[in-house]
Amino acid sequence: MIVGAGTFGASLAWWLAGRGDEVVLVDQFEPGDARATSGGETRLIRCSHGPDADYTAMARRARTLWRELEAETGASLLTECGVSWFAHGDDGWEAASEATLRTLGIPVVHQDVREAAAQFPSFNGDDLAWVLHEPEAGVLRAQLGVQTLASAAAARGARIVRGVARPDGDRVVVGDEVLAADRVVWSCGGWLAKLFGGLVELRVTRQELFFFAGGPGWDRSPGWVDYDRAVYGTGDLDALGVKVAWDMEGPALDPDADLPPATDETERLTRGYAADRFPALAQARLVGSKTCRYEISPDSQFIAAPHPEHPSVWIVGGGSGHGFKHGPAMAERIVSSWHGGEPLPRRFGLHKRERGTSLRSAGSN
Ligand SMILES: Cc1cc2nc3c(=O)[nH]c(=O)nc-3n(C[C@H](O)[C@H](O)[C@H](O)COP(=O)(O)OP(=O)(O)OC[C@H]3O[C@@H](n4cnc5c(N)ncnc54)[C@H](O)[C@@H]3O)c2cc1C
Repeated sequence: MIVGAGTFGASLAWWLAGRGDEVVLVDQFEPGDARATSGGETRLIRCSHGPDADYTAMARRARTLWRELEAETGASLLTECGVSWFAHGDDGWEAASEATLRTLGIPVVHQDVREAAAQFPSFNGDDLAWVLHEPEAGVLRAQLGVQTLASAAAARGARIVRGVARPDGDRVVVGDEVLAADRVVWSCGGWLAKLFGGLVELRVTRQELFFFAGGPGWDRSPGWVDYDRAVYGTGDLDALGVKVAWDMEGPALDPDADLPPATDETERLTRGYAADRFPALAQARLVGSKTCRYEISPDSQFIAAPHPEHPSVWIVGGGSGHGFKHGPAMAERIVSSWHGGEPLPRRFGLHKRERGTSLRSAGSN
């Protein structure tokens, strides 16, 4: 039984049902709802994780599994537009990422700023040393991805149940029903800290996204990340507009609170960045804005561990602003660890964690 049909829970349902396991997937909303962190239209999928080979390899494996999901369902989920990392120095996150990608045989291009500029309709790289380009990275259709995982899980035999669940020891209470299963997974995103207070440490924050009318050419540009300045974005995918978003941790926002509108202050900051980096966007019309939530673990590492008092109960989450792409590969690893495969790394555990460097961008600072 899996409670929570975001990228982690829906991927687990898809993976387990594919093994022939009997699966029930419970969620309070429809999969892909905007109130869940896996809602919203797009997410970057990239392999770069600085020197961290484990996350790098997992992202690459996830890319293969998203492609397999596309082949199974006919859904178009991954746009391989590439992702460009704007490097401000020669020995930062991008250099470490490049070394890791090369060691693992993942395609990567070390571009000078002029070469990189040619990939964008408008670009100013005066503050950059070089650009790391991942040609096989790109953008995932997030909401559609989660909906596709859930429907593919159902097609493989999983039962999808709508309802609010709460834990009762190793059982699950949904409405008046108390349900038991050989194994229960709570993959409840930002709600985990409320459901398992004292055990799961997550900060739930408000994040803001802005979409600009860029004009011609932006539908072919790569996704991008400015790690040191904690900003990222995409080209104009699916006519949503050119996306520009700050990656810094926003203020706390309860997972059950309504999502407020984006603020003028963050729009001003975002426009400032856009005008610096992509001069043609300086006066571009805002075509959309939205808010969503991050659920951030102290060290930005994921959580995938058994409950200390109920070994059949698992807690999975802590996406920390970078978890979406990893969903199917995390599912594969978790299930493999249950069946004699490689144990999960200790860093996914429920131990007390120290605040650490962000695997998302410098945004935690
Ligand atoms: C603005 C933004 C940009 C991001 N960018 C990227 C990116 O570019 N690349 C990337 O890889 N990741 C990115 N992320 C992070 C990624 O989206 C998240 O890490 C990931 O989606 C978290 O998934 P989840 O399954 O843990 O949680 P969720 O998607 O929140 O799913 C949890 C589910 O549990 C359900 N639930 C909770 N409590 C209960 C209950 N009691 N009963 C029943 N159901 C319950 C909820 O309804 C929800 O559907 C971004 C996130 C945001 C917000």
